[in-house]
Amino acid sequence: MASSDFGNLVQLIPAAVLHPSSVTDILDLISFSYKCSAPFSIAARGHGHSVRGQAMAHNGVVVDMTSLNTDNDKNGIRVSWSPSLGFYADVGGEQLWIDVLHTTLEHGLAPISWTDYLYLTVGGTLSNAGISGQSFRQGPQISNVHEMDVITGKGELLTCSKHSNSELFYAVLGGLGQFGIITRARIVLDKAPKRVKWVRMLYHDFSAFTRDQEHLISVDGMDYVEGSLTTNHSPPNNWRSSFFSLHDQSRISSILNKHGIIYCLEAVKYYDDDTILTVDEELQVLLEGLSFIPGFIFKKDASLVDFLNRVRSGELSLQSKGLWDVPHPWLNLFVPKSGIMDFNAGVFVDIVHKRNKTSGPILVYPTNRNKWDDRMSAVTPAEDTMYTVGLLHSGGFDDWEALDDQNKEILEFCDKAGIEAKQYLPHYRTREEWIHHFGKKWSHFQEMKAKFDPKFILSPGQRIFYKD
Ligand code: FAD
Repeated sequence: MASSDFGNLVQLIPAAVLHPSSVTDILDLISFSYKCSAPFSIAARGHGHSVRGQAMAHNGVVVDMTSLNTDNDKNGIRVSWSPSLGFYADVGGEQLWIDVLHTTLEHGLAPISWTDYLYLTVGGTLSNAGISGQSFRQGPQISNVHEMDVITGKGELLTCSKHSNSELFYAVLGGLGQFGIITRARIVLDKAPKRVKWVRMLYHDFSAFTRDQEHLISVDGMDYVEGSLTTNHSPPNNWRSSFFSLHDQSRISSILNKHGIIYCLEAVKYYDDDTILTVDEELQVLLEGLSFIPGFIFKKDASLVDFLNRVRSGELSLQSKGLWDVPHPWLNLFVPKSGIMDFNAGVFVDIVHKRNKTSGPILVYPTNRNKWDDRMSAVTPAEDTMYTVGLLHSGGFDDWEALDDQNKEILEFCDKAGIEAKQYLPHYRTREEWIHHFGKKWSHFQEMKAKFDPKFILSPGQRIFYKD
């Protein structure tokens, strides 16, 4: 378990695995390494849903964070209220978001920023950013944390927030596990809506598609906006979300045959008992004037849980066919708005569609960068609006490298076209690439490393500072 991850591309054998039964166990381990004349490396492993060995520690110690989470561990998620913060949950870094959802719903509350898939740990997503279709409005998950307990690479347990140990707080958010192990996070909560109106609209014109997406993230009203593309080599339904009926699928196939690529705008409006009578009308107003292909709008009504946990049924179905634990050479990017038309022509049309190498969902949706705090370690392009692009490939054990070559070609295309895209869930092989990735944040990132993990103990699998 500790030498593999969701990606199935990398295998690194650790010297040992720690199954902590308390935070003190982790504290002792890090302090011990820090005091050794030859410190050993240590990686927190959340749910191991990285794709490039980021939670591994070659010849070091992997900390299996989930062993902190025993069955019915109500102490791992505690809901509270204060006059200054409103409702919040104190959540163990090892907790899965699905458990955070179920526990907070018992109080009629829920976090406001999500990932598409909920079987990820709080510590794992806060080490990256935690993004989904709510981010344009609420910011990423790292923008919705009040406070954290962190064990630094020096073996100190510190509580940090915007006001106290703030350098550590901002460094850890999106910090790729480089500065400390998150053992508790105080997460923003709000009243949970009960149900959602869920809409998908199809486009063949990319500029109309992106114009409508950008419109929906700029006006008040929608709670979630995403998008994806389907080619005539990939079905409209996939493991990420099965939405279309058989009848709809055959209609969609007919326009796919005609256009080759179809873009799907997905939007959601939450509603409750007090808005049940007005939500349809409000939705209608929001959708007025959008330029989707006439007749190609599909609507669903779902519970909040079914919507937020939409990826799970696809996962279980793939698992039952043995298709979940296959290689996943994923590429996730933030593309600045100014480059998205060129990206479509050069990547979606010329590379992905014409070469017929798609093998999994492809996401593309805009988000507002004003919800990101530049003091956090997470890296984004500089423009106010950026697109999240996810090429979520599944490959065979023999042929995934062709997909990885395609990823390299995409990155080279961006370089040549002058599109300043940034990798999300980044993976690089050289120090120079990391320096380029962090750009003007690099010197501060290095400074924080020297302050909180001077012996380069933590998260070696990211390969930023580790010399193997
Ligand atoms: P791991 O893979 O276990 O760890 C990731 C990194 O964080 C490692 O470097 C590890 O050392 C470090 N780490 C883990 N726990 C801690 C901790 N407590 N303190 C400090 N460092 C820690 N991401 C999104 O933003 N949005 C999505 O919609 C989304 N969907 C996904 C769907 C699937 C099916 C998969 C496989 C991944 C998805 N991801 C998404 C990516 C996911 O958020 C990251 O891979 C995340 O790191 C996974 O969490 P994890 O608990 O499995 O972390």
